[in-house]
Amino acid sequence: MLRSVILAASRSSRIERLVATAPVSRSVVRRFVAGTTAADALRVTRDLAADGLSVTLDHLGEDTLNPAQATSARDEYIALLEALAGAGLTPAAEVSLKLSALGQRFDERLAYDHAAAVCAAATAAGTTVTLDMEDHTTTDSTCEILAKLRQDYPSSGVALQAYLRRTEADCRDLAGPGSRVRLCKGAYAEPESIAYQAKLEVDKSYVRCLNILMSGDGYPMIATHDPRLIAIGEDRAKWFDRSPDRFEFQMLYGVRPAEQLRLVDEGYTVRVYVPYGTQWYGYLMRRLAERPANVGFFARALRSKG
Ligand SMILES: Cc1cc2nc3c(=O)[nH]c(=O)nc-3n(C[C@H](O)[C@H](O)[C@H](O)COP(=O)(O)OP(=O)(O)OC[C@H]3O[C@@H](n4cnc5c(N)ncnc54)[C@H](O)[C@@H]3O)c2cc1C
Repeated sequence: MLRSVILAASRSSRIERLVATAPVSRSVVRRFVAGTTAADALRVTRDLAADGLSVTLDHLGEDTLNPAQATSARDEYIALLEALAGAGLTPAAEVSLKLSALGQRFDERLAYDHAAAVCAAATAAGTTVTLDMEDHTTTDSTCEILAKLRQDYPSSGVALQAYLRRTEADCRDLAGPGSRVRLCKGAYAEPESIAYQAKLEVDKSYVRCLNILMSGDGYPMIATHDPRLIAIGEDRAKWFDRSPDRFEFQMLYGVRPAEQLRLVDEGYTVRVYVPYGTQWYGYLMRRLAERPANVGFFARALRSKG
């Protein structure tokens, strides 16, 4: 219930104005977001890499409304990739792309062209791109664009969401050689007709999808902070004889950092998803929706403006 209220608020520009200007928001944002500039992103990447962690960088921004914004999002990624390579931070760091930031909502062809330009820059920088998965209205389009990108850039990856009923079938389609799939639970409010609603059902779907990916020939990326699912991931790695270079764990910046380091100490590859930029509102709201304990901050943020 609270989760759907917060996710609904994530789409409200009126609440965005309230939260974005509330002083207490800044401390909550700092916990989950590297900073506003590419220099901040590089600094955090360097620190994480020094601890043995890999990184995927997300330039915040989604649901772009016009071609100029989409071009500017593309250019930001290209400049970021050049800077990462220049700083010697590739291949430890790759990038995560939201196709809606590249114009997917109004021109899928443009989004594909921009994504291909980012993939070319990633290849030149010696690293890869993973497509984030957004709400279910974009799933088909994202899978189609991924398939086209993989013709020229076969290591391009995608996130799949275990809460969607279709995802087991998508995992089967994407469990082949060279395929990089990030399996996550899913962060948007989706209808019952297409998505499991109960946590137990989502978790069970996650395990079914994990079994498909870990027993397949691709490169699974286990994106979760859930202790039970991480333990199941470790178990499946042993069961399917996957060495640490043939799969990885992924977690969000600011969430369970001690667990990230524990897994590195165990010899696993762990990639941290690091967002940066000024458009942090939608991202922050999805993080708050995942964890009721953080909602106290949110309430205080609203009250301090009221
Ligand atoms: C690397 C990465 C990439 C992602 N990419 C996408 C994507 O492309 N599309 C998409 O829809 N979703 C994406 N997500 C979000 C994902 O779908 C979930 O919403 C999110 O990871 C929370 O689910 P969970 O598996 O951690 O399990 P949960 O059941 O939410 O949490 C399990 C436990 O983890 C801890 N925890 C979880 N979240 C938090 C938090 N915010 N603060 C503090 N502790 C927390 C708590 O101990 C909690 O009990 C991504 C997640 C990760 C880690």
